[in-house]
Parts: sequence; C-alpha cells; structure tokens
Amino acid sequence: MKYEVIIVGAGPVGLMLASELARFGVNACILERQTEPGIFSKATNLHPRSLEILEMRGLLGSFIKEGYMMPTGHFSSLPTRLDFTVLDTRSNHVLFIPQTVTERVLEEEVRSFDVPFHRGVDVVSVQQDEELVEVVAVGSQGVITFQAEYVIGADGAGSIVRKQSHIPFDGSDSTMTGALGDVTLGQPPVGNALIEFNQHGNAMIIPLPEAKYRIVVADPVCSKYPKEMPVTLEELRSSMQRICGTDFGMSDPVWMSRFGNATRIARQYRSGRVFLAGDAAHIHFPSGGQGLNVGMQEAMNLGWKLAGEIQGWAPDWLLDSYHQERHQVADSVLRNTEVQTKLIDFTPAGLELRKTIAHLLTFPEANRYLAERISALDVLYEQDPEMPTHVLNGTRLPNLDLYLANGEFTSLYSLLHTGCYICLLLEDKLPDSVEVPTSAPLRIIQATIAARRAGWEDVYAVLIRPDGHVAWALRKHSDARSELPALLQYGIQRWCSR
Ligand SMILES: Cc1cc2nc3c(=O)[nH]c(=O)nc-3n(C[C@H](O)[C@H](O)[C@H](O)COP(=O)(O)OP(=O)(O)OC[C@H]3O[C@@H](n4cnc5c(N)ncnc54)[C@H](O)[C@@H]3O)c2cc1C
Repeated sequence: MKYEVIIVGAGPVGLMLASELARFGVNACILERQTEPGIFSKATNLHPRSLEILEMRGLLGSFIKEGYMMPTGHFSSLPTRLDFTVLDTRSNHVLFIPQTVTERVLEEEVRSFDVPFHRGVDVVSVQQDEELVEVVAVGSQGVITFQAEYVIGADGAGSIVRKQSHIPFDGSDSTMTGALGDVTLGQPPVGNALIEFNQHGNAMIIPLPEAKYRIVVADPVCSKYPKEMPVTLEELRSSMQRICGTDFGMSDPVWMSRFGNATRIARQYRSGRVFLAGDAAHIHFPSGGQGLNVGMQEAMNLGWKLAGEIQGWAPDWLLDSYHQERHQVADSVLRNTEVQTKLIDFTPAGLELRKTIAHLLTFPEANRYLAERISALDVLYEQDPEMPTHVLNGTRLPNLDLYLANGEFTSLYSLLHTGCYICLLLEDKLPDSVEVPTSAPLRIIQATIAARRAGWEDVYAVLIRPDGHVAWALRKHSDARSELPALLQYGIQRWCSR
C-alpha cells in the first residue's frame, strides 16, 4: 500500500496531524497498534494555545461542549494560581477534558476526511532511501508492508520510528516517580478539586466525568518506586492519609498508573523522509499539563509545511523550519518541567522556597510571565531574515475581528478554517503589479482591524501562516513606499512558491 504520508500512532498528536494533512488534501494514512481507542486518560486538559489552534480549524465548539473551563493553571502545584484570564486571547482559560475525549473528537474529524485508518497494526520496521520510506507492520492479517514519501512518528515515548531512524533521544532517566488513580470518592473535597503540598508530599484531586476523580500524588515515601511497579489502592489511600489526613473515602479504581520524570528530547525532529512529533520527540514530568498540548501544536506546525513540500509549492527551506521552530519550544517546555520538579521539595528549605516563589507570583508581571509560558502563548518564531524587521514577525496571532472590504464583519480565525495563508491588506487593494502564485493555498484579503491593537498601527500588509503565526508584516510608513508592491511580491513569492 502506498501513501504520500504514513503517520505511525493514533494518539492525540497523530490524529491532529492526520486531520491537518487531510485538510490540505494530502493522501495520508494512520497506522495504530491498538485495535480500539484508549479508555484511560493521561492528560486531562487543553491549554489556551491548543484551544486557539482548534478554533482556527473550526473545531473549538466540539471540544468546549465536552469539557469544563477553569480560569487558572498551576506551576508545580504552587498555591498562587496562574491567572489565564489576563492573557491576550479569547481562550483565556484551561479546558478540562479527558485525553480519551480529545482523541475521540479528533478521530471523528479524521474520519470525516475518510483518512485510511489501519488499527491493530504494530509497526516493527521503518527504512528509508532517497525516494521513499518502507514501513513494515504486523497485525492479525500477518506482515504488511506500506510505502510512503514521508513517515511521521507520532508513536509515543518508546517510538519505533525514532529508534529505527537512529535519532538520539538526549536527556536523563527518571530520578523520582509519582502515582495516579481514577477512583470514586465517598467524601470528595469541598469544590470537588484540591491541591495540597506540605512536608508529607503533594496531592491533587481533579474531577472526571461519570462521578470519578483523578488522584495524583508525589509522595516522598514512594517516590523511589520504579515506574513499572503497579500502583495499589492501598498505596494511594496511605499517601492521601499522610498528605491530606484523609483518603476521601476512596474506592473502585478504574485505572492506576505510575509516571516518572525522565526528560529527553530527540536531537533532530527530522531525519531525511522521517519526522517526529509529540511524545516520540520529547518526554518530561507531566507538571503543568503540557505534553499533549505541545504535541498538538507541533502537529499544527508540521502539517502545512509537509503538504507544501508534497504538493510542490513550499519553498525549499520551509520543511526544515519544523525542527528549527519546534525543537527549541519543546526544549523550553522540558526546562520548565525540570524547574517544576526541582520545586517538588518537601524539606523545610524547599517549602520556604515554594513560599517565596508563590509570593513572587502574586506580582502580576511574574504571574503573567509563567501563565504565558505554560499556556504556550509566549511562543515566538524567528523573524524571516529576508524580510524587513517588524515587531509582529514570528508572533502568534490571537483571534482578531475584521471588517472586510465589502463591509462584512468576520474573525481572523474563521478565515483559517480551511488551512491557508492569508495575506491581509490593511491599507489598499492588492497592487495590480503583484502576481499571486496559484499553487499554494493563499487568500488575499483586504480588511481593517475592528479594534486598535498595539504593534498594528503601522501595518500595510501582513502574511499570516496557516498555523496562525505571522510570516512577515510590512510597514505603511516605509521610506520607500514605492517599493511596497515589490516587497509584497517578494514576500508572497518567498513563502508561497518554490
Ligand atoms: C500521568 C500523566 C499525566 C499527563 N497529563 C497531561 C496533561 O494534563 N496535559 C498534557 O498536555 N499532557 C499530559 N500528559 C502527557 C500526554 O499524555 C502525552 O504528552 C500525550 O499522550 C502525547 O501524545 P502522542 O500522540 O504524542 O503519544 P501517545 O498518546 O503516546 O500516542 C502514541 C500512539 O502510538 C501508538 N503506537 C506506539 N507504538 C506503535 C507502533 N510500533 N505501531 C503502531 N502504533 C504505535 C500507541 O498505541 C498510541 O496510540 C500526561 C502524561 C502522563 C504520563
């Protein structure tokens, strides 16, 4: 069987990639080892930037109705919550939603595009040459060989795609573990949720659907237990008793698991015709709830670039920018989870340090700094060195209200639903001399921004990438206004054609 792209793994990242590639008309398939969707959730939240990218694709409503919103996030369970309401986004909150539900909604989207979905096939070999990649999988029908122009390993932490591609996974092994359990609580805490941190350990309770609760503990008594050691209800009960003075009437566990703080990142996100995304590319302690989120954002960065390469409209540098842009973002996530792990310190000095940082987080600037970091709204890509500098270049765009030239009122994100570049002209129509390449998905839109925004006062035109970042912005008060059409032509050509 031959495809343009094979995605190995139907976790949230593989599914997000499949829907992105399908949106751009790429002939991609998914290979997944499990015969059925998972029934247990590691992740329980979506952060503001993930909610924004879902809104860009018209999917946000399907997620919002399945979860519940919280205005704050946390950093290492510190008592001063991170205030997401001050963030420059319409999705200024966390959405609590079990990972199984995120996967179900994404799978529905993937199936609406009729993406070939091979379940129950375990990929055992990935070999590439200059022309294509051969993937061998084993399933109930025996050994099946697939071929594709490109393969994406979205196959989780133990990624066979990464290993077979000999991509080093740099970092460190676990030095501590935590435990979780999805249980019934006879006496749930006030407000149904809790974070407790004291000299006995750290405990969290998060409400789940169907009257269940997620218990998460970092208990110094058990923190040296190996990750593979099964968690028992008795262990969770004792930990909660020690940390909170009660086990909240815990019973009927449906899932219990142990997780560690191994912290690793793939040295390269690309090796020839093979790409990595999600946990296949990075692992870390789940502090702050970022892993699934950063993986989905990688999918959003890679999809259109790979589509452009396959369809022949991408400039030759575009696909490699996936590694350049996203490796450093993931690296920064790894570093902040290491900081959060360091703060899980139950000694008197550790508790004092936490008190100090919790106090610093009462200062709005400090709070905002970490809220932007955990929510991924601080992600800024490098300015295009070939275009004039502008403060907007490389930034992520929040959803903006626009008046189109015909008077219609719309929003920027609604223009991105199909996945395309948008060249937004804020001053004038497209100069007659500018030729628009026809092979790339590009919409030229003349509009005005409904509300004044800092950084936009001097903008003549802006090219918005399909993932909602600014490729470049041109100033209207340029010394060489007569050069604007030429710059516009150059900028469009540079990003939207080979
Ligand atoms: C305890 C815990 C709590 C977490 N909480 C959060 C949170 O609150 N927020 C957050 O953002 N993140 C959280 N995470 C991290 C998050 O769960 C992961 O980052 C996320 O699952 C990564 O998605 P993925 O699609 O990259 O990989 P996975 O979800 O691991 O999916 C990989 C898929 O590939 C398949 N596969 C693997 N090998 C093969 C093969 N050889 N052939 C075919 N298929 C294969 C697997 O069956 C699987 O379906 C948490 C993690 C843990 C451990």
